Amino acid sequence: MQRWRDVARASGLASPDGSARPTIFAEMTVLAQRTGAANLGQGFPDSDGPAWIREIAAAAIRDGVNQYPPGRGAPELRRAVAAHQLRRYGIELDPEREVLVTAGATEAIAAAVLALAGPGDEVVTLEPFYDSHAAAIAMAGATHVTVPLVPGPDGFRLDTAALGTAVSERTRIILVNTPHNPTGTVLSRPELQLIADAARRADALVVTDEVYEHLTFDGVTHTPIAALPGMAERTLTISSAGKTFSLTGWKIGWVAGPAELIEAVTAIKQFLTYSGGAPFQPAIARALVDGDPDIAALRDSLSARRDLLVAGLRDAGFELVVPAGTYFVCADATPFLAEGDDGAAFARALPERAGVATVPVSAFCREGSATSQALAPWVRFTFVKDEQTLRTAVERLRELDPRRGAVQR
Ligand SMILES: *Cc1c(COP(=O)(O)O)cnc(C)c1O
Repeated sequence: MQRWRDVARASGLASPDGSARPTIFAEMTVLAQRTGAANLGQGFPDSDGPAWIREIAAAAIRDGVNQYPPGRGAPELRRAVAAHQLRRYGIELDPEREVLVTAGATEAIAAAVLALAGPGDEVVTLEPFYDSHAAAIAMAGATHVTVPLVPGPDGFRLDTAALGTAVSERTRIILVNTPHNPTGTVLSRPELQLIADAARRADALVVTDEVYEHLTFDGVTHTPIAALPGMAERTLTISSAGKTFSLTGWKIGWVAGPAELIEAVTAIKQFLTYSGGAPFQPAIARALVDGDPDIAALRDSLSARRDLLVAGLRDAGFELVVPAGTYFVCADATPFLAEGDDGAAFARALPERAGVATVPVSAFCREGSATSQALAPWVRFTFVKDEQTLRTAVERLRELDPRRGAVQR
């Protein structure tokens, strides 16, 4: 069996028999475009990040910052990442040896998993999980083990009993994601402590995807697991400028942690892209130093947009879990499901039925898993869209008739 089939299957690119098919994300976007639906499926901002940050990149292009940057990243960006981790979280890093700039968080995740896990190793993730996590594990030929996040009145919470069974001496990496896509959960300090304890017991490494670190609401704050006592030495922390500064197309990310682990990730990374984004790197370096007001403004505006969407979905009759962070809210579509339908069928029909696009949460689960079954009626909506798009979507969803499973127009 060729490895690409495992990867394709893990990432939803292929059906169980291995034949290629478009991802549900691509399918929903095509549907949204064809039907003119408000696209709350794919999670990218519909307005660009701060002009002053873009100007620095434009000036860098004009001023000749157009050739390969250093393989580990521009020194000023590595210094800015180290300074950011110290100022925000009290994490000390040597920018020379403990920070690596990558082509977005996506490359950092892939390079870290490829560097540190292989056939015979288990990599534990939360479930649901971000699709590239499963793909990276499959590319490494490692075995994917999951721990459910379970919806309840306090949000999607870690299944702590399942964590205990999932992590064993076979575990090489616990791949954490907080704030979490797709659920919007921000793992609590006690939950992170349990994960840290499990990692230490199993002598496993932790790789943590924190791309939404700044996008939390209601005074909830993000804690990097590397900041927990004794965890810095076994943790690689990954983040990126894309979500923080609404510049997802720039693909400037980074990974930080112990020098010997960064060395291993660099060995892989240099043959994935070697380096990239030369003119964007000085711009993001400045953004990390001077961008706090922009981050605060984005957080406030996202929080307001979350409130708008949450109220609208509730009004329309959805049960949901209010997210404490990220771009996303997950909602239970059970009241709107026709006999025998699930969230995937609902998502496929919704653009025609109501003029709104969404994605099923099962797309973030392993095919046939218990979590996939438990969350089968759930869908994920994004609120990282302008207010008008959200209002349009909410008005359209209000017309959904739960009883008839059809829209009344
Ligand atoms: C968007 C996203 C990424 C990808 O980040 P890039 O910097 O664009 O590569 C990684 N992880 C999660 C959870 C995301 O939502």
